[in-house]
Amino acid sequence: MQYPTHEVINQPTALEGHNAFTFDAALSEALAREGATWAADSLEELGELAGSPEAIEWGRLANGNPPILHTHDRFGHRLDRIDFHPAYHQLMEVAVGAGLNAAPWADGRPGSHVARAAKFIVWTSVEPGHLCPMSMTYAVMATLQEEPGLAAEWLPRLASAEYDPSFTPVTRKRGATAGMALTEKQGGSDVRANTTVAVPDGEGAYLLTGHKWFVSGTMADVFLALGQAPGGPTCFLLPRWKPDGSKNNFFIQQLKDKMGDKANATSEVELNDTWALPVGEEGRGVRTIIEMVDRTRLDCSVGSAGLMRHGLTQATHYARHRSAFGKVLDDQALMLRVLADLALESEAATSSALRLAGAYDRVARGAEPMGYARIATPVTKYWICKRNAGHSAEALECIGGSGYIEDSGMPRLFRQSPLNGVWEGSGNVICLDVLRAMRKEPDSLEAFLGELDAAAGDNETYDAALKELKQALTTPTEEGARRLVERMAVLLQASLLLRHSPAFVSDAFVAARLGDPGVAYGALPGGVDCAAIVERAMPE
Ligand SMILES: Cc1cc2nc3c(=O)[nH]c(=O)nc-3n(C[C@H](O)[C@H](O)[C@H](O)COP(=O)(O)OP(=O)(O)OC[C@H]3O[C@@H](n4cnc5c(N)ncnc54)[C@H](O)[C@@H]3O)c2cc1C
Repeated sequence: MQYPTHEVINQPTALEGHNAFTFDAALSEALAREGATWAADSLEELGELAGSPEAIEWGRLANGNPPILHTHDRFGHRLDRIDFHPAYHQLMEVAVGAGLNAAPWADGRPGSHVARAAKFIVWTSVEPGHLCPMSMTYAVMATLQEEPGLAAEWLPRLASAEYDPSFTPVTRKRGATAGMALTEKQGGSDVRANTTVAVPDGEGAYLLTGHKWFVSGTMADVFLALGQAPGGPTCFLLPRWKPDGSKNNFFIQQLKDKMGDKANATSEVELNDTWALPVGEEGRGVRTIIEMVDRTRLDCSVGSAGLMRHGLTQATHYARHRSAFGKVLDDQALMLRVLADLALESEAATSSALRLAGAYDRVARGAEPMGYARIATPVTKYWICKRNAGHSAEALECIGGSGYIEDSGMPRLFRQSPLNGVWEGSGNVICLDVLRAMRKEPDSLEAFLGELDAAAGDNETYDAALKELKQALTTPTEEGARRLVERMAVLLQASLLLRHSPAFVSDAFVAARLGDPGVAYGALPGGVDCAAIVERAMPE
């Protein structure tokens, strides 16, 4: 029946049935550059699933039905079990099957870490919260490499393509996930302030007593945790079940009521004589977890690149199917500039995140020293995550009032957008880490500058900015760290785009970020080919 008062016109249809990989030229090109073209077919498959109504619905359901904690059974016994909506398990099954867990550590093919990063970007568009346990599973394996015995025991399960959410001793499971328990109430950035005490049990293990204030992916099978052993802060492998098959003491107090990231369980946990094995040397725990922290920071960059790409996609789709004042929105000069600017930021984020994944891929194979990755990790993490929230807000605004409404998915994207900037080193801590890298590992700065020098000579604005940066690098200060790191990041992105992207993208990026920068997205200088940039970002 037709209702004359309710004829729906000038509204776009939902963006569904697209391939979230194939339309992303910047991602495909970065994948090839970093040596993972062989993964294109599986990415195409994942991209098709990511664009399917079914997967989009899983993301909506997993967020709309957050995890539920059961601390005790009806007789008063502790359960410490979290139940998830079936849609969460479906998302996890795909993520594990696609190798977003620790699979690259077992795969070993050149480019396997790059392929994983690209898949992470594609699958983020469906739902980012469940990817937190994937990041931790991937990152924990980096640290476990230091303990060949533990690595041999855990790698087959953490890298398995089989998702097994059962809450049973790991010896009965083929697939497992891992988490991290570092942050405590009195200190998150300052993990040396941990108060959890670790007492040797006389048989090679330790008993941990204390609390953990943020534990994400809480239903993981195993965690890396920091505790104060007699010799100082030490890293421990803490399984949910002890080797004798009994439950370890892991008391989940409550779930955090987070602003976003709703599908992912983050909880407060108390430890009381909790059985754990040492990883690395006693007293060197902070050093031992660095490999893990590096990989989670990589994933913060990759994940935020994925969030930006998703916002850009949604904004462009809407602008192409909505008219105002007699013209389609993406034909309006000012809207086209906003979309083009969002696209420039998204391409810069994708290129720099994949460049970093490529560096880690080569480091893992011993084909490249750690130098570039050491300093580019905090530089890239700082800037991509810092740009994410503004990007998501602007993408939401492109969709107008409907963008502010929950079922558009944009509020979910927006609430997720600051998270990667907060965890695994908030902005200031990350900038201080860049200064530390320059001071303690000067070869890392040399490698980084090599990357910037590679683009010198073709663009005057870039060359002038590079000269200025090199001058600023001679006198780094704590007060000036944000300004310095921001400049390093923008030059790194400009260098990548100048060498690898079409000139209409790189020239626009250099002009807009280094030459004549505006503050808000869309405040691009003149002479930019916005239509070409938007068409490249999302071919019609
Ligand atoms: C959703 C979510 C999930 C999380 N999951 C986990 C998890 O699974 N495992 C885990 O261990 N942790 C987890 N965390 C915790 C997270 O890693 C910490 O919140 C983060 O490291 C910051 O620590 P903090 O909260 O204690 O803040 P603080 O250390 O109090 O920092 C507050 C602010 O001060 C700044 N600051 C700190 N030191 C300095 C300095 N020297 N100079 C200038 N500024 C400084 C920081 O940059 C920050 O902006 C999670 C957090 C969130 C939000």
